[in-house]
Amino acid sequence: MSTGLVAGKLALVTGAGSGLGRAACQVLSREGATVIAADKNYASAVETIKKHTALASGSNGAEHSAVELDVSDSGAVQKLVQTTLQQYKSPPTIVINSAGITRDNWLLKMSEEDYSVVQNVNLKGTFLVMQAFAKAMTEASLPGSIVNISSIVGKYGNIGQTNYAGSKAGVVAMSQSAAKELGKFNIRVNAILPGFIDTPIIQTVPEKVLQGMLKMVPLGRLGKPSEVAELIAFLSSDKSSFITGASIDITGGF
Ligand code: NAD
Repeated sequence: MSTGLVAGKLALVTGAGSGLGRAACQVLSREGATVIAADKNYASAVETIKKHTALASGSNGAEHSAVELDVSDSGAVQKLVQTTLQQYKSPPTIVINSAGITRDNWLLKMSEEDYSVVQNVNLKGTFLVMQAFAKAMTEASLPGSIVNISSIVGKYGNIGQTNYAGSKAGVVAMSQSAAKELGKFNIRVNAILPGFIDTPIIQTVPEKVLQGMLKMVPLGRLGKPSEVAELIAFLSSDKSSFITGASIDITGGF
């Protein structure tokens, strides 16, 4: 019998094919969860399950799985609820919303399309997944934990990221509101606000800008995806049973 933090639980992770989502799958599976790795890039989600999960199956014996999912597509999100219920006979009670994109540009140059696509994935996608899977949890009368990945940029803003910062501030407010509504079902909702973490998403940040940012990080380095994943696992687990509606910075002190 596994004694992991989330032993026997079923976890859905979006954006699971890379970066923080992949690291979350690694740590949640190490801690005994069965993981559903969902990503728009199906091949990368498969790779997460094949190469980056701790066990072939979670501690309850159910197999991990990889699924293709565009979080901004409400039909696809609804379909995933159904296929998950068919496969696992109950909904995931841990939901990690890590799918996210950037389309950086100066405010004065940003296209409406780059504004909209970022809102659709980061904010609407988080909304759709949270709504659909919270509904499934309430229908199954199961308590749960939802962790939404915001960003420190949603608190302080950042040059070139008006679209992204707005979407991430929205994720915080949305998580706090959902926490207020879902508390009566014992479903907790928390947002985490990472600073600069070493994943593919920051490869588009110019080196000069990155070095400037790092000067403002007391710990003087980028964060590791695994460091964020440990926080995700804690918030997913019963160890954090009285934490809901919180927004937790994980920034090296930025
Ligand atoms: P990443 O680019 O490494 O991974 C993002 C994943 O999301 C990719 O696998 C991508 O295929 C997937 N994805 C993109 N659009 C999708 C969609 N429509 N539906 C489903 N999946 C989709 O980035 P990351 O650093 O792992 O970022 C994860 C989350 O953390 C994002 O929400 C990001 O905004 C946030 N974040 C990252 C940092 C950082 O420094 N890395 C800092 C703060 C917040």
